[in-house]
Formats: sequence, C-alpha cells, structure tokens
Amino acid sequence: MELSRIGRQMATPSGLRAIMDDISTATSAAPALTWRNLGVGNPAAIPAVCDWWQGLAAEALAEGFADVSCRYGASRGLPRLVDAITGYFNRHYDWDIGPQNVVVGPGSQLLCFMAAAMFTGPGCVRDSKLVLPMAPDYTGYQGLSMAAGAASGVDPLLVTEGQRTFRYDLDLAAVSKRSDAGMFLLSSPSNPAGRCLRTGERASLIEIAGDFRVPLMIDHAYGYPFPGITEVPTAPVWHDHVINSFSLSKTGLPGERLGFVIAPERYATPLVSFVANSTLHAPQLVQATVARALEDDAIDAVVAAAITPFYAERRKYLESHLASALPSGIDWRIHASEGGMFVWLWVDEDWFEDLTVYRLLKERGVFIVPGRHFFTDPEQDRPLGRHLRQCVRISMTPDPEDLAVGVTLIAEALADMSSAADRTADRPN
Ligand code: PLP
Repeated sequence: MELSRIGRQMATPSGLRAIMDDISTATSAAPALTWRNLGVGNPAAIPAVCDWWQGLAAEALAEGFADVSCRYGASRGLPRLVDAITGYFNRHYDWDIGPQNVVVGPGSQLLCFMAAAMFTGPGCVRDSKLVLPMAPDYTGYQGLSMAAGAASGVDPLLVTEGQRTFRYDLDLAAVSKRSDAGMFLLSSPSNPAGRCLRTGERASLIEIAGDFRVPLMIDHAYGYPFPGITEVPTAPVWHDHVINSFSLSKTGLPGERLGFVIAPERYATPLVSFVANSTLHAPQLVQATVARALEDDAIDAVVAAAITPFYAERRKYLESHLASALPSGIDWRIHASEGGMFVWLWVDEDWFEDLTVYRLLKERGVFIVPGRHFFTDPEQDRPLGRHLRQCVRISMTPDPEDLAVGVTLIAEALADMSSAADRTADRPN
C-alpha cells in the first residue's frame, strides 16, 4: 500500500504515542501486577461532577432525543448551544459576540488541528509553521500539522526560584523573530508545566501575532471559565487576532468529545466549513447537555464547588509527598504550580535522563511520562541543553494511594540512579 505524503505524516506515531503503547503493552502482558500509572492524561472522574452531567444528559435525552440525535444538524453547532455560548461569554466577560464568532467541534484537539491546517503550511502568504511560543507544551500540538516538522517550539527562559522550584518564562524576543509563523498556539495553564500566561505576556503575544498578521490561538483546556483548574484566574480575552479554544473534557466529559472556539468571524467562518467538510458537525446530544449547563451558569457552581478544589487538594497532596520523599541530596525542582493536572519535575543532575527513569520505574510497576516529548526537536543541541531530557510529567489524577506509593518508588529510582553514578565516578580509570 502506498500512502500519500499527508498519509505518511498522519500515520507516523508520535514519541509520546510510542510511550502510551508501551504502557498498554506492559500492563496487558502482566495484568496480575499492581501497576501505578502516574502518566495518565485522563481527568479524574469526580463523583459529584459525573452525577451532575448524568442528570443534565438524562434531561437532554428525555426532552430532545428525536430532535438532536435523530437528525443531522448545523456545522457551526446546535443553535441552542451556540446561543448558550454567546450568552455565557457576553454575560461573564462583557463581550459582544454573536453566533458568527462560535464554532463547535468534536473536541478542541480537532478544532486546533483544523485551525493549524487552515492557517499554517504551504499556500499561505508564506510557507508558514505552527509556532508554539513556549515549549514545553501539549504533545498533541506536534501532530496537528499535515506537513512533517511544521510545528516548531520556542524554548523558554529558565528561572530557578528558591531551592525546589523553577519556572519557565516566555522568550518574547525569540518569539518576535518567528516571521515563519502562520499561527501561534499555546495552552494556559499549560500541559505539562501548569504555567499560566500573564495578561502582560498575552498582550505581547497578541502584538507579535498582529505584526505578523497571524492568529494567536489560546487553548484554555484547563483554564477559565471551565474547568477552572488554576490558581491564576485569568479571564479569556476577546481580540481581533485571538482564537480562544475551550474544551469540555477536563470539566468531566472527555469521552463525549466536545469543544468550541470563539474567534473573529474571518477565522470562524472557514473553520465552520472545515467542520462541514470533514465531520459535518459535532455530536448533538452532548451539545444539548452542555447548553443546559451554560444557560443558567450552573457550570460555574460545579467548577467552584467540585473541580477547582479537587485539583488544588490533589496538587497539595502530590507536592507534599514529593517534598518529603525525594532524596534531599539531589538537585530536583518542580515547576511553580499555577494550574493544570500535572506536576512537572526537573532533576538537574548529569546522571539523570527521563527515558532511563521511565525504564527503571516501569520495572517497579510505575509509569510517568518522559518530558522530552513536550519539546520540539529534543535531541537537537541548544542552550537549554540537558534540561530537554531531564524532566518528567506526573499526573495528579490517580488515586491518592497510588500517588503516594508511586512517589516513594520514584524516590527509590532516583536514589539508585544517583548511587550508580557515584560508583561510576569512584571507579579508578
Ligand atoms: N489541549 C490540551 C492542552 C490538552 O492537554 C488536551 C488533552 O489532554 C487537549 C487540548 C485535548 O482536548 P479535547 O479533549 O477537547 O480534544
């Protein structure tokens, strides 16, 4: 079978996909072992949130099944949901958007894919790239382009804080040189580091995007107004160069595949056509369910009472276990915790490599995610050097007991790696 160039690109598994396949092969080959998967990207199934969605879905099913499930619908989105979205954002943020600014799709991943396909690549004003203004960022972005290597990250500036914390800063000077950008895309809070874009930084990125006359897509998958997994409550911004992307996944409906963008009409209109050409429209029963959650702002109460505190609590729990378990003689730090579902751990030691600790932990029945996959071109030598291969992502969603045992085993693996390095150093040449 011959695949087309696009076919070959889309059929290539990402580095992270290979890890996920490895996790699934290892766990199904030894189901009797107790595996602790601290690498999961799934949001937690919070009982109060599941019950609430189930109630709304039951209502949507009872009241509108024939209308929404037994008919095709509009590519922009179910009119009731599109109205609920415009009403919600105009009410909360004093915007003045209308249906022409909304595009509903089957998950925000696909909407990001469509935007990347439309606004980057050959045929635009210039042969342009999807530029990630601050790598590390969501690995899913690297598969968004149908051209090989078209997603390109800008490395961050690295700032250490105290003994055990660090943070990434946007390298705005480097971003402003990316005249090859067809679109900028970043998540805030970010996956993996949990970093939140400050309003000043956002204004600078908007200015750069404006100078290049390209869109800045901001992915709020973990942010405000829902799921609100953040300690830096930054309201989304309406701007002529900004495409705002929202997802219902982390608010509890990852399996239903629903997301939407809010954007100026010149960006939204072609996206609606892309939805029509590729998938006709997003599933409608879930659209009817989500419309109910937005119409009376009920989603806000659920976020405030059940989702934000759940992840804040989990973060505290995981970080305090790391602080007490990880060896004190090792130079480890976590990224300043601002939001998202993960803790991003950096071990700044010559002997540390993310793939090695992944392998050692797998032998102990624990999975984490090696950090290199969140950078673009991690093998290429550049100023961040070893850092690109010295981080791992730990998920906050496993059960607390699994988190506690997993952290103990991470600490053991680090101690073993450190002792092995000491023995090698002591060996006479
Ligand atoms: N954006 C980010 C930053 C993510 O981490 C994820 C999934 O983990 C997605 C988008 C995908 O979201 P959706 O389920 O809406 O496609």
